[in-house]
Amino acid sequence: MKLPGSSKFTYHQIEKLISHGLNLVHFTWQVEAIYRRRYCQEAAREFRYRAPIILALYGFLTLGIYKISLDYDVSITWLYYYAWVGIIIFIAWVMSFVRRFDRFFDVYVGIGSMLAVALSFLMVTVIGSVHSNALFHVAMMYAVVIIYGFVGLRFYTAFIAGWSGGLLAMVVSLLLNYQIDWVLFNRTYTFSSFFGMALAYAIDRQHRENYLQNCIIQLNQKKLSQQAQLLESLSRQDALTDLANRRYLEEVLTKEWFSALRYQHPLTIMMIDIDYFKHYNDSFGHVAGDSCLKAIAHVLKQMTSRGNELAARYGGEEFMLIFPMTNREQAEKIANNLIQRVNELAIPHPSSLVCNTISISVGVISTIPQRHHQLSDLIMQADQALYQAKKYGRNQYALMIL
Ligand code: GH3
Ligand code: MG
Ligand code: MG
Repeated sequence: MKLPGSSKFTYHQIEKLISHGLNLVHFTWQVEAIYRRRYCQEAAREFRYRAPIILALYGFLTLGIYKISLDYDVSITWLYYYAWVGIIIFIAWVMSFVRRFDRFFDVYVGIGSMLAVALSFLMVTVIGSVHSNALFHVAMMYAVVIIYGFVGLRFYTAFIAGWSGGLLAMVVSLLLNYQIDWVLFNRTYTFSSFFGMALAYAIDRQHRENYLQNCIIQLNQKKLSQQAQLLESLSRQDALTDLANRRYLEEVLTKEWFSALRYQHPLTIMMIDIDYFKHYNDSFGHVAGDSCLKAIAHVLKQMTSRGNELAARYGGEEFMLIFPMTNREQAEKIANNLIQRVNELAIPHPSSLVCNTISISVGVISTIPQRHHQLSDLIMQADQALYQAKKYGRNQYALMIL
């Protein structure tokens, strides 16, 4: 049986389960509940294929016993009773196709198994008391072994079903005043029960081992995909500001450029440079300079919060913003807003020649790309616009058209 693992457990938990849970073929209650649900699902699925095999073997056995039975009346009575075992298997088979019953697999198959054992046991005491026939014992042993080894019950469920079936038949036999020949029963029912238990134990243990191994595989896969995700996001990120890095910027910009070209949407990019940042570093040192970069990056991040917008660190203290589907008017508003927000940060910058707080200059370019345009031209023009903003006095934006 293939038992897909769960990634709900930790490595430590799985190790503990391997060391404690396998010998007892029972996990702690909580883990057992998770395992049981998964197991019942798979066992029900398998039972859909196993039940016809069980039915075929059952039919074969029935026919065989019927053929070699000496007494015709006995065979008929026996068949009449034993047919019920077939009906029980058939009902369980039909039920295994109903998905909603999957989680009750061990309940309905357990009850069915108990009844099958009880019936085949009863036939020995009821019919066999008149016509002692070893063939009835064979049918009972067959039922017991199948229940432990082939219907797909967990060890303890099979154990309860097997023995309670025997107990039920025993009580009914005694109530109806039928004799139980324990000498023979110990060689058939008791023996086949212990044999079946050993079989069920080995199978259950193997299932649990497979399940835990699959849990480890699941955990490894989860860890790997988390690491891959982390690596991917790290490879796109600038370490100091957490904005997109230059590599990712180029990737996104190319994508947006071609998308704007194809659908003829406006595309705006902004090139940003901090004013007199060298002076700032000289006055306050590089550590304070880094904090200032982070504060500005934070503002840029807030300004690019819509779906496809992106803020990236272009180089040292230069940044680039991408605004897809943003026309000139909208771009101007954004640029104004941006400059104002940086001013509102009010980071003291006494050595600035524009104002006494940190300010930025912004080069804005907004266009609907045409076939004869090049992306590199767009970047060059943004750079040019920035140069103009600087030239006209800084702490402002300049807009250019491609
Ligand atoms: P302008 O107004 O013309 O832009 O003058 P500026 O002094 O800002 O000149 P420029 O843009 O050339 O300044 C670049 C400076 O930015 C040089 C360097 O000290 C500083 N810088 C670049 N990267 C970093 C960084 O990662 N951390 C810090 N603290 N400073 C940086
Ligand atoms: Mg610069
Ligand atoms: Mg600068």
